[in-house]
Amino acid sequence: MLAVLVRQPPLGPAGPKEPGEGAPENVVEKASKRGAALLCAACGSRVTSLDQRIEVDGAHSHAFLNPAGYVYRIGCFATAPGVRIGSPPSDEFSWFSGHVWEVVLCGACTTHLGWRFSREASFFFALILARLREDPATS
Ligand SMILES: [Zn+2]
Repeated sequence: MLAVLVRQPPLGPAGPKEPGEGAPENVVEKASKRGAALLCAACGSRVTSLDQRIEVDGAHSHAFLNPAGYVYRIGCFATAPGVRIGSPPSDEFSWFSGHVWEVVLCGACTTHLGWRFSREASFFFALILARLREDPATS
């Protein structure tokens, strides 16, 4: 019997997939309605709203690596009435130059939601987008 040579199709690149943060698709960026409430994904209490989104260093959302090697995708907000400060201010590893940061927690369930960055009298909130969800009642 004759052996039949079958040409293998070329193998595609088998490199590792892009390292992601393991976060679900970001609902904040897809939202079309301005002013929809953003809730703590853990407990559903109101944190801030889409109309509080601001740009810092030229963009609303940023991906940052913390010293432990964890990637956070954060969005910048002018206010976040639903959080409370959870740490003393620090300037170590600050992601925004010249700013000090404080950890912010959900005011209702104390989930870590992000950080408040401040410089002199100005401040903004950098919230972990994967830990927020849009309020279906307001969108
Ligand atoms: Zn919460």
